[in-house]
Amino acid sequence: MTAITFTVDLEDPSERYAPDGRYIAMTQRILDMCEALNCKATFFTIGRIAESAPQLVRDIAARGHEIAYHSHNHVSLTKEAPARFKRESAEDKDKLQQLAGHEVIGFRAPRFSLTPASAWTLGILGELGFRYSSSIMPTDVSLFGFPDAPRTAFTWPNGMVEFPLPVAALGKYRLPYLGGIYLYTMPFFALRGFLRRAGDNEVLWTYTHPYDFDSEEPFKRMPHTPLWISTVLWMARKKAAGKIRRVLELGTAPPLRDRLGEAAAANR
Ligand SMILES: [Zn+2]
Repeated sequence: MTAITFTVDLEDPSERYAPDGRYIAMTQRILDMCEALNCKATFFTIGRIAESAPQLVRDIAARGHEIAYHSHNHVSLTKEAPARFKRESAEDKDKLQQLAGHEVIGFRAPRFSLTPASAWTLGILGELGFRYSSSIMPTDVSLFGFPDAPRTAFTWPNGMVEFPLPVAALGKYRLPYLGGIYLYTMPFFALRGFLRRAGDNEVLWTYTHPYDFDSEEPFKRMPHTPLWISTVLWMARKKAAGKIRRVLELGTAPPLRDRLGEAAAANR
């Protein structure tokens, strides 16, 4: 049976993080969908949300989901400086833990920007008590990538586990088919075909954002994103929620914190 962990990158694309921003209402939509599917997810949360929407973080955790960390302000790791990264990550981890009522052990790099050049961040994350990362695209089809990394879950030298973005082989390419523009634009039968070919030792997960569920918002170009990608993603919003739901209806797996053992087993 295909079992897919659902993950959410909890961020506000306007970068304003207003206390009444649309990301809050859209997250409620996602929570309601999870409820209907009896699915427990991992929410990689931007640190600023601990200040702008603390009750949202409490609600997510109270509904049985995992709160994990998605950096303080969605700066790509390749643009981070060590001292600031360490200070912000430590403060945010603490704040998110207080709101969630559980330890925060997972990290996802903004835009999957954990690359060979930014791998120094793992040392800091490990020191701060993070136990896993879900931050690399093991492919070179995108702006950021870690092309030589394993396709399946593995352990970094400092002991942290990595859950790479699932990719499928298509000729000489590795396609990150379970997320973003690939997921939203690919016909469902193609997606199912890739899932059938996934190995038994793959930890499969998909991801979405609150704004992907916002089919009513007028078009706005997203910061740091090419116009054509912004346009395609905005057009995909009408179908994104339905697509995610269909994927999750194939079978859901627990949050990533509960899959660390599978990663260890896959490494043996
Ligand atoms: Zn993000």
